[in-house]
Amino acid sequence: MLLSFLWFMLFVGVVLWVAYRNHSHAFATLAIAVVLAGYTLTGAAPVWWKAILWAAFAPLALLNVSPIRVRFLSRPFFRIYKRLLPRMSSTEREALEAGTVWWDGELFTGHPEWNKLLSAAAPKLSSEEQAFLDGPCEELCRMLDEWDITHHRADLPPEVWDFLKKKGFFAMIIPKKYGGLEFSAYAHSCVLAKLASRSTVACSTVAVPNSLGPAELLLHYGTEEQKNHYLPRLARGDDVPCFGLTAPRAGSDAASIPDTGIVCRGTYRGRETVGLRLDFSKRYITLAPVATVVGLAFRLFDPDKLLGGEQTDYGITVALVPADAPGMKLGRRHFPLNVPFQNGPVEGKDVFVPLDAIVGGPKMAGQGWRMLVEQLSVGRCISLPSNSTGGAKGAVYSTGAYARIRQQFSTPISKFEGVESVIARMAGNAYIMDAGRSVTAGAIDGGEKPAVPSGILKYHTTELGRVIVNDAMDVQGGKGICLGPKNYLGRGYQLTPIGITVEGANILTRNLIIFGQGAVRCHPWVLKEMNAARDHDHRRALGEFDKALMGHIGFTISNAVRSLIRALTLSRIVKAPVQGPTARYYEHINRFSASFAFATDVAMLSLGGYLKKKESLSARLGDVLSCMYLASMVLKHYDNQGRPEADLPLVEYACRTLLYRAQEQLHSFLRNFPVGWLAAVMRLAIFPRGLTYFAPSDRLGRKVAELVTNPTESRERLCDGIYKTLEPTNHLGLVQEAMVLAVAAEPLLKRIRVEGVKTGRVTALDLPSQIGQAEAVGILSAAEATQLREYDRKVMEIVHVDDFEPEELEAGQVTPPKAHREAQVA
Ligand SMILES: Cc1cc2nc3c(=O)[nH]c(=O)nc-3n(C[C@H](O)[C@H](O)[C@H](O)COP(=O)(O)OP(=O)(O)OC[C@H]3O[C@@H](n4cnc5c(N)ncnc54)[C@H](O)[C@@H]3O)c2cc1C
Repeated sequence: MLLSFLWFMLFVGVVLWVAYRNHSHAFATLAIAVVLAGYTLTGAAPVWWKAILWAAFAPLALLNVSPIRVRFLSRPFFRIYKRLLPRMSSTEREALEAGTVWWDGELFTGHPEWNKLLSAAAPKLSSEEQAFLDGPCEELCRMLDEWDITHHRADLPPEVWDFLKKKGFFAMIIPKKYGGLEFSAYAHSCVLAKLASRSTVACSTVAVPNSLGPAELLLHYGTEEQKNHYLPRLARGDDVPCFGLTAPRAGSDAASIPDTGIVCRGTYRGRETVGLRLDFSKRYITLAPVATVVGLAFRLFDPDKLLGGEQTDYGITVALVPADAPGMKLGRRHFPLNVPFQNGPVEGKDVFVPLDAIVGGPKMAGQGWRMLVEQLSVGRCISLPSNSTGGAKGAVYSTGAYARIRQQFSTPISKFEGVESVIARMAGNAYIMDAGRSVTAGAIDGGEKPAVPSGILKYHTTELGRVIVNDAMDVQGGKGICLGPKNYLGRGYQLTPIGITVEGANILTRNLIIFGQGAVRCHPWVLKEMNAARDHDHRRALGEFDKALMGHIGFTISNAVRSLIRALTLSRIVKAPVQGPTARYYEHINRFSASFAFATDVAMLSLGGYLKKKESLSARLGDVLSCMYLASMVLKHYDNQGRPEADLPLVEYACRTLLYRAQEQLHSFLRNFPVGWLAAVMRLAIFPRGLTYFAPSDRLGRKVAELVTNPTESRERLCDGIYKTLEPTNHLGLVQEAMVLAVAAEPLLKRIRVEGVKTGRVTALDLPSQIGQAEAVGILSAAEATQLREYDRKVMEIVHVDDFEPEELEAGQVTPPKAHREAQVA
């Protein structure tokens, strides 16, 4: 009996071991056969039972024989698969196949190879890039007056426009040979983050020409002639670009634009030529009102087959259209939420341009969508993540200091638990954002074009930015709300919905893109299966599908077992790639990776194309992927910074927040999964011990809050790269200065309270009078009284908000919407 039990345990152990290690089918068969043979020869069980076991083993063994496997498993499955595979438009396929697979791919394996991430070099600025940040970028920040820009001018002043052009701010991605700065992705990101901490308008203005737009498209697809003409002009600022894709009827579904370009004969600048007649109406186009050249996306038709092919509908195409071409109408402005960077509609009626206006020339007709999605991955990793992170760092820096200098109930508000927990959340979120931004920029500099991470970063940095700025507004109270030259939060608050909406609006990005693209691109087998199903050579297709299917089955079983064992052991069975206090987070990411991979496979296998419609399920799986990705970025960022021990609370807070959220989203996914029994099976493999992961504790939150409400090195590291120079118009510098003074002032304030107010020797109600009385009765020395008066003056300069004469706030000349409509109709 005991022997039989031991054999049974050995059998179970071997099966689990083979599955956990994801050994090949042949190896698994051999290992199980050996155990079964041993059991048959020495086990005490009756012969009929052993026969049943061998009979159950036989199909597993037979699947090693390729013709049998193909006939009885792969072929029938292939037929069903082809029927179930959702139809995909070419634009959808191009979007799915764009960019590269990087660390996101590892997270889909269930067993990430950490060395791939940890061995990557830390992003670094060259001396030239550092000099730009310390020189022109610093100088620009000093020139910017956000209130003047947003309230009086609704534009950057002319000298700032000149400075931006002259110093190459619009040419960070343009190679030096064309007169650009040729900065690394990391440097580009650092410039935007710094500007974002100073001016919403300047940052948005600089971000656009360096992101997806004419320069980026020309660099990758332009003809030599186009590059030589446009790139030096763009680098010098002789040309100001904008990119027009969005139309009134085509927002998120940008591929459905109704704008057309018809190939025809016409006259361009006095010359008869074959060209395009363009009719379009675009809106929301950043820089359009001041642009001199418009990168335009439209649908190309060639009814007379002048391009020489048989096609008449070429699909989406991109051309560069001079703003002064006859029929072009631009100059009017939208007014995006009191953050008045240049943005407006562009219209064109019968605009004629030659064929070589197409980016890349006529041979690139119809390639527009591919061009856009291929290049979007890089720009989307940089512009909005840097913009949001710079703004978030500024908010944390000012809020940490403000909470320390602002007293209520005779106590700095940073000491109240409620405020402390909000500040901890702000700091933890800012760490996550900075880690994601900088590590991913480093990967781009290493040659990656990470498509799925670009969606993750775009969505999460803008969402976390929104949480941070809301938190900052809560902590700073009326100070954040009353607009005026003294307000340093309001415009950032107003900017957040803009980041949320552009470059793929966030609801769409979360529900449709992150997981949808990841499941196809990053999964080790799905794309191979899909490609096989679309292959017209049936023999080859079946062979490829057979290989992929066997890999996929082994992969799914393996992840189910890994998930179960790691959950049961609280992931202690996993070997972390590092030692020390962060090791546990690596182990937990490995656990969630296996659970996520298993859940992904079950969902795709059981729901197929229907999963695309079940957006809330996809969104939750996307959240799990995003949380693992961002937690990995946090760990790598900590590593890149030399693992400073003082920053550990930030790292722990960030990782705990993310992994707790991963757990909660997996749990919600299971609760809402439409097939009950499958949800139960998944729950068994994913949460056999229930929900065991906890969010950051209050104690940890307190440690984090202390790091950013004191003048610590961790605070400086977290908020590194923002504009915090101490000068009269820089609020971030001033609030930091006051916080440093607060550390020395607090014991003196306490002395006044304890020795003066409580004993009745100091009776005044306001601090300046209390200081006078305390000095008079000898509680403070003359020097201490002077020190406190100076401190109080600086604090009150920060605490004060602006007020205005009523006529100063009267609205200017705004055309009423009705009158505007009538004018347009006329
Ligand atoms: C200030 C600003 C600057 C811009 N700059 C440019 C520019 O320079 N060039 C340019 O071409 N465009 C630009 N845009 C356009 C921007 O990219 C679009 O606003 C964006 O694509 C969303 O389109 P929409 O506003 O029409 O929203 P809609 O497409 O109407 O979407 C409305 C809501 O529905 C959600 N939604 C839509 N489809 C789905 C789905 N399948 N699943 C789930 N949710 C969905 C969206 O997430 C969104 O929340 C800019 C926009 C703004 C506001």
